[in-house]
Amino acid sequence: MHPMIKPALRRGWRDRQTLQYGMAPAHAVLLGPVTDHTAALMDLMDGTRNMDQLQEEARRLGLGPHIPQQLTERLATAGLLDDATADREASAAISDRLRPDLASLSVVHHAPGSAVQRLATRRSARIQVRGAGRVGTTVAATLAAAGVGQVDVIDGGDVEPWDTAPGGLPPHSVGSRRDAAARTAVGQWRDGRNGNRARVGLVLITPRDGADAYAPDPRTAEPFMETGTPHLYGGVAEATGIVGPLVLPGITPCADCLMRGRTEREPSWPLLVGQWRTANRRRTGTPACDIALATTTAGILASYALSYIDGDGGCTSGYRLRLALPHLLPSTEQFTAHDECPCGAASVHAARTGSETAEPHATMTG
Ligand SMILES: [Zn+2]
Repeated sequence: MHPMIKPALRRGWRDRQTLQYGMAPAHAVLLGPVTDHTAALMDLMDGTRNMDQLQEEARRLGLGPHIPQQLTERLATAGLLDDATADREASAAISDRLRPDLASLSVVHHAPGSAVQRLATRRSARIQVRGAGRVGTTVAATLAAAGVGQVDVIDGGDVEPWDTAPGGLPPHSVGSRRDAAARTAVGQWRDGRNGNRARVGLVLITPRDGADAYAPDPRTAEPFMETGTPHLYGGVAEATGIVGPLVLPGITPCADCLMRGRTEREPSWPLLVGQWRTANRRRTGTPACDIALATTTAGILASYALSYIDGDGGCTSGYRLRLALPHLLPSTEQFTAHDECPCGAASVHAARTGSETAEPHATMTG
């Protein structure tokens, strides 16, 4: 191991003995008391020295022989340490375009070398995006740009002018086949090494008409429920962006659970949803979709999908975010598994205690 204090986190002295790594509170860490000699040793932890060489440097600085080991352990616990050897070996496989993403992963994931591992996991992942409208194609391109090895986009028909978006289908694709145009839009972000035939690990259901994201049709999800494929809903319904829920079949509330739960509270719900769907089919105008809202929704969806692939617990199931114009203040809507839903999530849900909570940021003193 060649200890390297994560270069992604900016360092600043708060006073003569207290160091702060990182700027924003979510990931900033305080370290102290730090003596001048310890700080000098920390300066040498830049990934160019192994532990034996750091021992030698510690001796030169008049620090005890146990200090380098103790210090690296403390720094690792605080999430500040990376292993430069892990980084170097993987460097050849990571394109320069992904360097900022790698640095970000090193901020989010504490263990030395875990950022490189996360990018490798992304490269071996395969995600399917169903729906190549403003939201769907932007999500797909973003996932490919984030290093996901294989992103498939499924849709029919030809590109309409209102399907295009700055991060998705380009204006010149109007009139070409949606799936082919989406493949091209995604393909330009593919890493040379990407492309795999792994099993689809996650499906994003991003219908062009957001009504199908707002009130998801259980029939659409049947193939994914049957194969146990995790799926995540998202889209823009009128002037509201929808992100979620993530469905882990048989474990967390599915579209059918949502429909059954809502119908219990509001008996007229199926009637209303049925009218919306019929209206969609008869509609001749274009559905409302603010381009900035679509881009925002796509960005959050992509972040949730990556969080799921990265396994950081940030993408939790059983709820969805709603972002309504003009303020975009997110509100969350919680779901519970329905007792009578054939998916069986209700029995699992009953056994679970508590919900996943955000990990508190590490602080360290002494
Ligand atoms: Zn269900």
